[in-house]
Amino acid sequence: MSKVDKARAGDRPLLNRLSDLGSRIDWMMLFPVLTACAWLLGQDAVAMVLVVILPAFLALQGRQRDAYLRHVADIVDGRPLQKSSLHMTIDDVLVDCARRDRTTAVMQIQIEDLPVTDGDWGSDVAQTLMDRVTQRIAAVMRGQDRIIRSGDACVTVVLNPTRRTDLDVVMNIVDRVQIAIAEPISVDGRALRVRSRIGICSEAMAPSRSGAALLAAADCALRVAMRHGDDAVRVFNQDMQTQVEFDHKLATQIDDALDTGQIRPWFQPQVHTVTGHITGFEALARWHHPELGLLLPDRFLPCVQSAGRIVDMGDVILRQSLKALVAWDQAGLSVPSVGINLSLEELSDPRLAEQLIWQVDHHNIAPSRIAIEILETVTLRDGDETVMRNIEQMRKAGFRLDLDDFGTGAASISHIARFGVHRIKLDRSFVRGIDTDEAKRRMVAAIRCLADALDVIILAEGVETEAERETLAALGCQQLQGFIVARPMPFDDTIPWALARRHATTKDPRDRQARGSV
Ligand code: C2E
Ligand code: CA
Ligand code: CA
Repeated sequence: MSKVDKARAGDRPLLNRLSDLGSRIDWMMLFPVLTACAWLLGQDAVAMVLVVILPAFLALQGRQRDAYLRHVADIVDGRPLQKSSLHMTIDDVLVDCARRDRTTAVMQIQIEDLPVTDGDWGSDVAQTLMDRVTQRIAAVMRGQDRIIRSGDACVTVVLNPTRRTDLDVVMNIVDRVQIAIAEPISVDGRALRVRSRIGICSEAMAPSRSGAALLAAADCALRVAMRHGDDAVRVFNQDMQTQVEFDHKLATQIDDALDTGQIRPWFQPQVHTVTGHITGFEALARWHHPELGLLLPDRFLPCVQSAGRIVDMGDVILRQSLKALVAWDQAGLSVPSVGINLSLEELSDPRLAEQLIWQVDHHNIAPSRIAIEILETVTLRDGDETVMRNIEQMRKAGFRLDLDDFGTGAASISHIARFGVHRIKLDRSFVRGIDTDEAKRRMVAAIRCLADALDVIILAEGVETEAERETLAALGCQQLQGFIVARPMPFDDTIPWALARRHATTKDPRDRQARGSV
């Protein structure tokens, strides 16, 4: 039995509803007779019910039935389902739960990394991927569970009434779903990977017992999961509601924050592992919130994204970074480059490369002084036309390319070579405790061989201790960035910091090494 068939079987109440409707139609034909009898017998109240209230009730029922029919059609042809129909589906399951003394839970599964562009390798591929993902989810659920496409990149699962929906049960299902989704999906001869984020609400945790409340709570948990790493899963609790409302408020303040310069970059230095000379700065977004103080990106980036302003924020960060380069040059400092983080959304903007080229020209800065930091996972989207065109154009114009969080994704040697990567930024997960971890040392030694062969520089991220720095230097990582050098700082602090450092590194390198600074 296919899952679509199962979905149909799961909708058996529909058939009951249709037969109910058939019997209602017969009764409707008797209305005039019944009404006349009631009138003649002096039963005005009964006549009133028959004439006014009952037809209105049936009309309402009819509308609900139409919506329900649409809902079933949507499940069958794979189009996203309207929210109202989704509420009704969950309402039906809740009624069933109450009747059989069972319980249920709703899972909102958001699929990440779908191709976002149009064209041969765009929306069609995204559609095919979503179809496959939905099938895979369906294959690991039980027959009567409802698996519904509820958005372009979202699948909703409503558990069939069951005895328990405690954390163990729910996490067991989540594991099955995520394992099923994580396997590469073959589309047009290419193996593509997608990730998911999941929000869950069980009937017991929902603020009230209705389809709308259960879905809103699962959505709320999903939004919290979206703020965390890949494959994050969150189960709804009341605190989340407050958090999501707060995020919503923050999102309404983004426009103002961008216009008034509250969001701007701080800069974290990158240095040569042995000489200690500055090799660049990374620009990291900060929000100087008038009431909440300094906010870090993990707190506000999702809001910027949901407000649709990530491209504008990128523009602000780039312009401020170019201004910083001009100011460092004027101060007589040698700062070879600034690293700019670009999200997939920005890389999917067809005008990105053009705008970047215009901006560097405008500030009279050589493009080679801008290091575009892209996540390793972005390189896996080598079929995405817009992303690829942007990267190609930027590279041709002379921008440098840094592969960020290296080691956390699955970039292959061919990706590094094909993208013309200048530097790989070794993720902090490889760096943390490397001095005491033989496995990490062997891994980094292997990465070093690969980097040498491809003529790529290694920058170790998140270096915090002298022991880590020494080990990385011994392993041949050429550059490093981390709290051991300096934390990210506002632009105004960068010049005094760089001048002090220049003084320290030129004074006596042996002295510097003895003091453990780099
Ligand atoms: P990332 O690109 O991997 O940036 C490095 C993060 O590690 C920064 O966090 C930095 O403050 C932190 N870090 C640096 N040295 C150390 C260390 O020694 N130890 C530890 N534990 N952490 C260290 P931050 O500034 O909170 O940024 C977080 C992420 O937000 C960045 O990760 C990046 O993915 C994103 N982000 C920051 N600014 C922007 C931006 O302008 N645009 C976009 N699209 N994303 C940004
Ligand atoms: Ca980065
Ligand atoms: Ca990083």
